[in-house]
Amino acid sequence: MSFLLRAVFLLLIFGFVVYVLKAIARLSFHLRGTVKDVKNLREQLSGRPAASAEMVRCASCGAFVAPREAVTISGRGAKQIFCSHDCLRAHAQRA
Ligand SMILES: [Zn+2]
Repeated sequence: MSFLLRAVFLLLIFGFVVYVLKAIARLSFHLRGTVKDVKNLREQLSGRPAASAEMVRCASCGAFVAPREAVTISGRGAKQIFCSHDCLRAHAQRA
């Protein structure tokens, strides 16, 4: 009888330990996901100044524009970048 009680007690402890381990594993998995999210967020935040560093400067008014919005003309080996066609025209009239 006491052997049976001990067996049940051990089984309960074993079950509890397994439950706790499972809970810890789940927690660490969630934690890892959260850490990954935070890292992604931080990369996005720190990626913003890097993106602005890729901006090109208008040769006419000096405004910074994204390369894909910029108007680029290249002639005689020199490349000139303008923020808009208006600036390009203004620069051409001034020159
Ligand atoms: Zn401009």
